[in-house]
Amino acid sequence: MIPVLLHACCAPCSSAIVEWMLQNDYAPTIYYYNPNIYPLEEYEIRKAESKRHAEGLGITWIDDDWRHDDWLCAIHGLEDEPERGGRCLRCFELRLTAAARKAVELGIDTFTTTLASSRWKRLDQIEQAGHAAEAAVPGSHFWARNWRKGGLQERRNQLLRQYAFYNQRYCGCEFSITEKCK
Ligand code: SF4
Repeated sequence: MIPVLLHACCAPCSSAIVEWMLQNDYAPTIYYYNPNIYPLEEYEIRKAESKRHAEGLGITWIDDDWRHDDWLCAIHGLEDEPERGGRCLRCFELRLTAAARKAVELGIDTFTTTLASSRWKRLDQIEQAGHAAEAAVPGSHFWARNWRKGGLQERRNQLLRQYAFYNQRYCGCEFSITEKCK
């Protein structure tokens, strides 16, 4: 089995990717680091669902802190950007750099992200952020894969119903609450 650190944005987006990895000789460790999510109550719901998913499969699940103030500082000046704009790129960079650091800390060569499974997000931004994280953290390697392909988008929707996951109605941050995302 090949170890991979999987940065998970939420349980629904993780489900089909984790299933595919387990069927294809990958051993995912789930890393939950999403300080972008607001408010705290919403964050706790999404986190609990991710933990429930991982623990049900016997997968290691790692939680990181909800430092929303730090996230707000990181995206300062980009608050009014539209979704899929500059704020989102910065948001991806922050989360994927943390994932790269965690992978190196754990001795896992490769990291990837469930963000690349959402049709509401720009793959080019995710790849740019992943490669920037890889460059910033020596020893890390970003697995740039389109996790929507190969039937995974359809499988995601099946598993969403099968696990009865909470299905969020917006991307995550306070600036996306009025924007349709999921
Ligand atoms: S809309 Fe989503 S990806 Fe963009 S900054 Fe907000 S939480 Fe991050």
